[in-house]
Order: sequence, then C-alpha cells, then structure tokens
Amino acid sequence: MATSSESRLAEVEDFLAGGTLQSFVAGRPIGGSGDPVFQTVDPGTGELLADVYAMDADQVDQAVTAARRAFETSAWATLAPAERCAALEEFARAVEQKKNVLAQLEAIDCGKVLWQAAGDVQNLADSLRYFADAAPRTEPQSPLAADGFDAYQARLPWGPCGFIFPWNFPLLLVGWGIAPALAAGNTVIIKPAEDTPLSTTYLARLAVEAGIPEGVINVINGPGATTGAALAAHPGLKRMSFTGSPEVGRLVGEACGRNLVPVKLELGGKGAAVVFDDVDVAKTTDELVGTITFNTGQVCCTASRWLVQRPIYNEFVERAIERMKRTRVGYQLDESTEMGPVVNQKQRSRVLGYLQRGKQEGAEVVLEGGPAEVPGKKGFYVKPALLAGSLENVAAREEIFGPVAYLAPFADEEEAIAMTNQTDYGLANSVWSEDAARADRVARRMVAGSSWINCHNVFPLGVPFSGVNQSGLGGGVNSLETFEDYWRKVSVVRPLQ
Ligand code: NAD
Repeated sequence: MATSSESRLAEVEDFLAGGTLQSFVAGRPIGGSGDPVFQTVDPGTGELLADVYAMDADQVDQAVTAARRAFETSAWATLAPAERCAALEEFARAVEQKKNVLAQLEAIDCGKVLWQAAGDVQNLADSLRYFADAAPRTEPQSPLAADGFDAYQARLPWGPCGFIFPWNFPLLLVGWGIAPALAAGNTVIIKPAEDTPLSTTYLARLAVEAGIPEGVINVINGPGATTGAALAAHPGLKRMSFTGSPEVGRLVGEACGRNLVPVKLELGGKGAAVVFDDVDVAKTTDELVGTITFNTGQVCCTASRWLVQRPIYNEFVERAIERMKRTRVGYQLDESTEMGPVVNQKQRSRVLGYLQRGKQEGAEVVLEGGPAEVPGKKGFYVKPALLAGSLENVAAREEIFGPVAYLAPFADEEEAIAMTNQTDYGLANSVWSEDAARADRVARRMVAGSSWINCHNVFPLGVPFSGVNQSGLGGGVNSLETFEDYWRKVSVVRPLQ
C-alpha cells in the first residue's frame, strides 16, 4: 500500500495500511491470497493507494447467499418500520461522525475536490434519513375498493437487491440506491467501480459497527466484466439497479432479463442548457462554467451543450472563456482547487480524444483545453475546453464525461427546443430565462427525466431523478415514487362476510 501522505487523516492512513483490500460479505472481510488483485490509484498523483482483491463468481454467489440469509434470518426484513428507521438513523449518524474520513477516502480515490466529497457524504446520510423516515409512513397495507370483497394490498420487502455503481459519485449514488432498498427491509449487494473501491468498502464495515445486522450490506470489489457480470447474472437477486454507461447498461439489462429480474438502469446523458437573451449573462455564464467544471465534468446530467440565443451569444462566449481560463485546476485535497483531475489515464485520453475528433469534424475551438500541468503532481489533469458549431459533430452528440462544453446559437424558442431534443439521450436539461411562463413551457417540452429552470444539477430529495431514451429506464431514484419499487405487493382478497 502507499506510504506517502499529503495531509491525509491518520484514520485514512490506517485504512490504507491494512494490507490488500478485502471485500465485505456477511459482516466479515472476504478475499485473500490466491485471489487476483487489481490496483486503485490517486488520480491526482498517479500513486498507488491500494491493492484490492477481485471477487470471482463463487464469491459473488457467497455475497448473494449472505444477503439472502440475512433477509431470512436476521429479522431485518420483519422489523417494525419504526425500528428499521431507528437503525438507519444510527447508521446515518455514524456516517456523519466519520464524514471527514469518508470524504477523504472518496476524494483521493476519485480525484474529487474535498469539499465536494464532503457534500456527497452528507447527501448519503440525508438519503438514509429520508427513506428511513418515510418507511413508517408507508402503510404496510393499503385498503382497496372492491365491490363485494374485502381487499387490500400488502407491502413486503423483496429480498437481496444488487447494485452496480460507477466511479464518479460512489457514496452519493450508494445512498440514492440502497437507502430505499434498506428502509423497505431488503438486503443489498454492492459492486463499486474498480477505480473507486475504498469508500464503499469502508462504509460496509461502518454499517456493521453502527448496528446494521451482518449480511444486510455486502460489498464485492472487482472488474465489471467478471465481478459485475457475475452479479448482474445472478438468479438469486430480486431486484437489480445499475448506474453507468448505456453500453454496459444493455449488458446488465440482458442478463437480468434472462432471469426475469426487474432492473433499473441509470445511464449517461448529453444535457443542454438553453439560455435566453433576457438573463443576467455574467451570472448565468458563471453558473454554467461551474456546472461543466463540477466534478471535472464527470457528471451524467451536466450541461455539456450550451444553446445560447443569438443577441447575447458573443457576450456569453467571451465571459465563458474568461471564467473557464480562471478555473483553478489542482490537487483535490488542496483547498484552493476548483477542479481536480479526471479519474484515470483512460478518461483523460477519452477527453483529449474527443477534443481532437471534434476539431477534425469541423468544430470551432473556442477555448483549446488539453492537458493541464499541476506542479509536483503526476495526475490526470485537463483544462476546461469550449467547442462550437454543428450539433452533428461527435463532440456535440456523444457523452465526453469531462470539462468540455459545446456551444451553438439559436434564434427562438422552437429552435431551442428542437436543438435540445436532437440527442439520443434524455437525462436532464436546463432553461435559463427571466420569463417564467416561457421557462415553464420549454421545461415541459425538453425530452428528459429532469428539466431545471435557472439552475442545474440540483437534486432535492423527494424529486424523482431518472432518464429516458438512452439515459435509462426503470423509474429512477430519489423519491417516494421510486421507493415503491423496493416493496413487493401482494393483493389479498376475501368475500365480504
Ligand atoms: P461503466 O458502465 O463503464 O461502469 C459502471 C459500472 O459497471 C462499474 O462498476 C463497472 O465495473 C461495471 N461493469 C462494467 N462492465 C460490466 C459488465 N459487463 N457487467 C456488469 N457490470 C459491469 O461506467 P463508468 O465509466 O464507471 O461511469 C460513467 C457512466 O455512468 C457515464 O455514462 C455516466 O453518465 C453514467 N452515470 C449515470 C448516472 C445516472 O444517475 N444516470 C450517474 C452517474 C454516472
């Protein structure tokens, strides 16, 4: 394991010094000599953080079996909702107590700026509380109006639920995913991305220390093609939730389809920000530059296409260039950093490759972008970039997943809507205007799961977050509607006496 420590907490160092990282199944570490090992590195320095044991199909099976046993024997599934609520509240408190440790593990593993990582940890605790509080209010049975019969629908948990997550928001997505599943009484098996195994593995141990029964939360680390595929294809799952790319989402969907396991797919995006000429240009530009540089542009629902009404286009572009140039790119634990590295060398090459291909296909290079140097650090840094031109360009069509925005001017509302919907994706867009009626009209006609007005990347708990078209299926996350997915419904009917 790594020895260097730039302002790392002692507890983070202890965790990293614990030897090759084991997964966590049935309340115990799993994995050891004989198992293949992969590595996770700090994207800000390129340094090794940890060797990690990769779980094979047998170990994935052990994890699903552990989740099933915990479901059948630990009483988690049969606890009164209020008691589960109390247990999850305790877990949320433990997360908050270890917020600094979790945030630092997240930051060093993902390259995420530290204060943003701390926000993700708080979001995880808030999600646990939100669904824990909602559980007692979800009636275990709802009466049904049936002529001549006494009928009701009972709500029960399903059993083991699988989750596969990407590397861009590990803990936040774990919270959005598992909080409703746990609050309903299910048990979970989580496969974190191989680039970011640290925080989720730490979290599973913390859950047991906080009193969540062994086997209720299981974490299996390993590559997607082996560990992930084994989980997706496991017939013992009752529900599956996948967050990641559309390509892998299809594979996971196929595997679940063969077992008739219901699946949620939360996939990529190519969101637009539609900026009308009545906005405060300086303020709106600042917000959109903040959006594309947030998490170094590695955000599924970021605004990566900026559609700007012609009268303010030139002013908008000038301000955007000026603001983007000032973005402080640096190491993620450095307090002055605004934008950290991308997650790995492959992602850096992907971003640079799209800049190259976009240019080759005729995009205007408004701000060059390219590799960024951070003194003393051999990390995977890039500068923010701006391209402009036809929306047929590869950089305007495909998800780059980096700090690259694509500009195009529009004349009127109809054209803006048509341009926004000129995509295979449908995750989230935003509209920026002082005219509330127009903003509302446009928000409804943009085809995506979310339309934000005069803001972007906001996720109030209780508001469903989901994608349509290539951005996903299955109802999404984050709300009481999606909570319903984690209850098995039984219709009970008897003749009226
Ligand atoms: P990815 O699809 O490459 O990997 C996601 C996860 O799937 C990882 O854990 C990976 O190990 C696993 N995986 C890979 N191959 C697998 C297989 N054959 N079977 C089962 N699992 C497999 O995505 P990524 O590069 O980690 O993440 C970026 C993508 O995630 C982007 O497209 C982004 O938009 C999307 N994303 C979507 C949301 C959302 O809520 N809609 C949120 C975050 C990220």
